[in-house]
Amino acid sequence: MANEDLYALVRTIADYPKPGIQFRDITTLLLDGRGFGLAIERMAAAVGPAPDLVAGVEARGFIFGAALAHRLGCGMVLLRKSNKLPGRVTGINYALEYGQDRLEMHSDAVTPEQRVLLVDDLIATGGTALAGVDLLRGAGAVVSGASFVIDLPDLGGAERLRRAGVAVSALLEYA
Ligand code: 5GP
Repeated sequence: MANEDLYALVRTIADYPKPGIQFRDITTLLLDGRGFGLAIERMAAAVGPAPDLVAGVEARGFIFGAALAHRLGCGMVLLRKSNKLPGRVTGINYALEYGQDRLEMHSDAVTPEQRVLLVDDLIATGGTALAGVDLLRGAGAVVSGASFVIDLPDLGGAERLRRAGVAVSALLEYA
């Protein structure tokens, strides 16, 4: 299966969640077992030495993150939205286009110097991923890279991450 076929499995929904946005819907990719498996194989191939942990960003980052962690033979830390985790948490607020959001992780989830790969389905402005990187680095982790199914390069997020010293890989790009 070529990358063109992975593109064909991502559905574009116009005007979601608001007018003018072209939402890249990965649920159609998930429905295709072969495509989902191939996406994970290709994400794994783009990772250098296996990290100690994968950090998945809620919610779609959990799906790809968990599969990738299993494939790489490493554990997984959850970066969740506010008030979802039961234990003591460390959190970070970050700006959205309108308003703010927050990511949290268990304070004892990551130990200093652990190599952590951040995973999400898509990077747009990079605000979410950068918040995740700051959260992990704040806990002393070394962010060994960031892996996405989709990059929207025009929104500059991957570039922002690279400027922050993070190696970025993405399977598909939508300009
Ligand atoms: P950013 O913070 O980089 O601007 O936005 C990325 C975050 O928003 C990711 O967590 C991603 O899941 C979500 N996101 C934004 N736009 C899209 C989209 O078109 N499709 C999907 N699947 N997720 C999106």
